[in-house]
Amino acid sequence: MTLISVNSPTSELQALDAAHHMHPFTTGADLARKGARVITRAEGCWLTDSEGERILDGMAGLWCVNAGYGRKELAQAAARQMEELPYYNTFFMTTHVPVIQLSAKIAELAPGDLNTVFYASSGSEANDTNIRLVRTYWAEKGQPERDVIISRWNGYHGSSVGSGSLGGMKGMHAQGGLPIPGIHHIDQPHWYAEGGDMSPEEFGLERARQLEAKIEEIGPHRVGAFIAEPIQGAGGVIIPPETYWPEINRIVKKYGILLIADEVICGFGRTGNWFGSQTMGIEPDIMTIAKGLSSGYQPIGGSILSDEVASVIAKTEFNHGYTYSGHPVACAVALENLRILEEEKIVDRVREETGPYLKAKFESLTDHPLVGEAKIAGMMGSIALTPDKAARAPFAAEAGTAGFITRERCFANNLIMRHVYDRMIISPPLVISKEEIDVLISRAWKALDEAHAELKAQGLMKAGTR
Ligand SMILES: *Cc1c(COP(=O)(O)O)cnc(C)c1O
Repeated sequence: MTLISVNSPTSELQALDAAHHMHPFTTGADLARKGARVITRAEGCWLTDSEGERILDGMAGLWCVNAGYGRKELAQAAARQMEELPYYNTFFMTTHVPVIQLSAKIAELAPGDLNTVFYASSGSEANDTNIRLVRTYWAEKGQPERDVIISRWNGYHGSSVGSGSLGGMKGMHAQGGLPIPGIHHIDQPHWYAEGGDMSPEEFGLERARQLEAKIEEIGPHRVGAFIAEPIQGAGGVIIPPETYWPEINRIVKKYGILLIADEVICGFGRTGNWFGSQTMGIEPDIMTIAKGLSSGYQPIGGSILSDEVASVIAKTEFNHGYTYSGHPVACAVALENLRILEEEKIVDRVREETGPYLKAKFESLTDHPLVGEAKIAGMMGSIALTPDKAARAPFAAEAGTAGFITRERCFANNLIMRHVYDRMIISPPLVISKEEIDVLISRAWKALDEAHAELKAQGLMKAGTR
């Protein structure tokens, strides 16, 4: 075996990585050619790579490091729990203290009567659980034919076969025979790209009413649930028009179908409230949680059930569970993370102080010639790149070309900002300071300048059609 350490030359690390490690959502051949960026340390909002560069993490890892990197209390909570009880399961009528404490805490924080948690180790697994929960719920209610779940194109609910089917990523459906039967998709409330001549308000209503039309098309007696992210994350941070969620609420109530809010990104402070459902005015029956629950320090996710859903499921044996459902170390770390978020008033600070500060700065990016719109809620935001601001035009070049160039310029300026096609997105740690927000915005501006110059030089500032 080749001996390597964090002090090994980057090229050696990259070569060994490319030889033996297959990366998610990556073209292996490209990676082998370019070499992965090797991250060695992190503190607060800052990453360090194997070249010693300090990089501002505008994405909080993958939307998850809400409390920031380097929190010793979280490391200590894990170490304490590993010494006391590193593992025990929650099958067969057993439990342990960390899972009891965490469940009670989540019930306290979650709105309404969402009081019962079923655990997984990720958001994907939790959404797989939700598919079985919904169908079991309706079967227990004597309506087993209500097995259809409606979801949205360009929504993201995970990468397993079940959760990837719930999601509306066509590139994912194209590999591996997705979606599974019984999942139907409606269009997303993405006004900037798809709203045409409608006002955002009209468009929000139109897109919400697609749910009603879909329910009528399938047959109301067949539909069990609707799942959506309060604000789409991986789809490009798409904040729906204000008319959208109230109309969705009306429709799910009218037909008596379950509403699942996928809070994997929005949950635990990202939008300035504990849950995105509170920011957007949603009353879900089930919530999916993961990511910020542990600030990414341990893999943990889950489904929070309303009292009504929990009581119906409780009548039967739910033949479902994961070896690591309610893993004690993950629970202990999540509990400590929630303590930090609450006691340090991190969520309140996002809502009242740093969120509004970031919003003002972020929205000023629309003054840049390459930026068509900038939208942000709390600490999740996106900008649309465009060759023609007035027309909200897409680029003539293949979608994602301009976004990729801009992302590479961000990387080169030591700022992590992702692109989804030609939208640039941010989701920084919730602990980001005003000074760090200033750095983020100035680096973003510089990257946009450089990308704009490159797009002009390559003749790519040409508008296409939708
Ligand atoms: C990331 C994500 C998931 C999947 O979570 P994993 O932990 O990656 O399995 C599900 N839903 C949403 C909204 C997400 O952003």
